[in-house]
Amino acid sequence: MKKGIPASKGYAIGSVLIKRESKINVKKRYVKDVDKEEKRFQKALDLSRKQLEKIKIKSEREMGRDKAEVFESHIMLLKDEEFTGAVKVRIKTDHINAEVALYEVVNSYMKIFNSMKDEYIKERGADVKDVGDRIFANLTGRGSFLNKIKNDKVVIVAHDLTPSDTAQLDKSKISAFVTDIGGRTSHSAIMARTLEIPAVVGTMNITDLVKDGDIVIVDGVEGNVIINPDENTIKEYKSKIKVYNMEIEKLRPLRDVETITKSGRKVKVLANIGKPQDVEQVLKNGGEGIGLFRTEFLYMNRGDMPPEEEQFEAYKYVVEKMGNKPVVIRTLDIGGDKKLSYLLLPEEMNPFLGYRAIRLCLDREDIFKPQLRAMLRASAFGNLKIMFPMISSVKEFLQAKNVLRQCMEELEEEKLEFNRNLGTGIMIEVPSAALEAAELSKYVDFFSIGTNDLIQYTLAADRMNEKVSYLYDPMHPAVLKLIKNTIDAAHRRGKPCAMCGEMAGDENSIPILVKYGLDEFSMSASSMLKAKQIIMEN
Ligand code: PEP
Ligand code: MG
Repeated sequence: MKKGIPASKGYAIGSVLIKRESKINVKKRYVKDVDKEEKRFQKALDLSRKQLEKIKIKSEREMGRDKAEVFESHIMLLKDEEFTGAVKVRIKTDHINAEVALYEVVNSYMKIFNSMKDEYIKERGADVKDVGDRIFANLTGRGSFLNKIKNDKVVIVAHDLTPSDTAQLDKSKISAFVTDIGGRTSHSAIMARTLEIPAVVGTMNITDLVKDGDIVIVDGVEGNVIINPDENTIKEYKSKIKVYNMEIEKLRPLRDVETITKSGRKVKVLANIGKPQDVEQVLKNGGEGIGLFRTEFLYMNRGDMPPEEEQFEAYKYVVEKMGNKPVVIRTLDIGGDKKLSYLLLPEEMNPFLGYRAIRLCLDREDIFKPQLRAMLRASAFGNLKIMFPMISSVKEFLQAKNVLRQCMEELEEEKLEFNRNLGTGIMIEVPSAALEAAELSKYVDFFSIGTNDLIQYTLAADRMNEKVSYLYDPMHPAVLKLIKNTIDAAHRRGKPCAMCGEMAGDENSIPILVKYGLDEFSMSASSMLKAKQIIMEN
């Protein structure tokens, strides 16, 4: 048995699929048998086409026809003789390997597209790159490890899962995951709770202990992984699964009950989401709103920034689905561990303290403004509020509001509708903001405490590092003082204070948060019913 950190509750028994870190060399090679090389290229083209057809059908079903159009254009490009022919000619005449031939052709296309003024044509350049990357991945066998999943669900074992890996996880194919590194508030753990799949992180070396096809039991309650268990242990866990599922069912009736504390105070239980489709789970579990929409996932697993129109559709979908319930959308919180493959940022010594979140957005209005415009436009369709991450001073918030005001003026000129009075708030996740909450409360409509970061910054304990996870303590008196200070400051100005860090759904922390007078608890949809029960008992 291997011990790790319990990251997402539940139990799973299944066969292992390991995510291998592959670094493949793509040096130019002399190729003697050019026909064989051409066939290898054709095989990668065929595979890419099959994948794209599948993705197209899936996105048509989940996001609508217009969203799926981009995949149709990718398929067309695979069929384009001029494009694929150019690669084949290079293989034949220069006797070079397909990867390099492809790379050269894609680059020459990109150069032409990038030199165009027309934005639409420029975007086609990104399509060529995207398709090129896919063919490349299929040539080198570097396709997503998730493509290897056949029929039965698997348990993913990985050194680490990046946020873009987790954005691709599909609950119908994965029963659990286990990683070497990470803590309870790393993004893979948060995603596991959103998807409601058990997970154990921070095992240090699980990837050395198992191989593909091994049977493991993942105990997301205790944080244990049992490798190749005997019959009796499997039996024992099968009955644990039964009991666990029964307990979840027992909580169901709480779904539509108002959350009132013992002292008679009404509080709200809301959900954190990362993708528009997550709304379904929120409604199923009786969420009273969305307390945090982490928009960075809309920016991942693609070749370029999502355009304003596409973001607008995503935000509109969520606010409409939620009816009149509040939806707090957070502006892009990229940086730290969340990277975008197409946004090249310099390597930093301390990425979590570096050029990230609001700092990056204020510096890059070309990224910030389309997102704010999309949010504003969606605000005409529901109860949307905007939240800025990583605010560390009043000045930063006022700068962000200023950009928002400019976007409002632009939309007014363009006669596009939006809610001029929409609420704007900030995350309190930097100690300086928590200490200065009284000053900040003058300007904002609401606070939302981001304990995942607040704890790591206050205690100087990296939230991703399992070696210091013993220091990462939500109940540390210093953390509690900052939380109390923030809630009190908001209340003195008659403003609400929410919490959207994982602490809001932590069973041990809820009683003290109720005592401090927290107004809104926002968490993974899977934690909401249990949290409601505990709030009502306190
Ligand atoms: C937080 O820091 O608490 C938070 C909710 O944001 P994220 O986990 O996305 O950093
Ligand atoms: Mg944060």
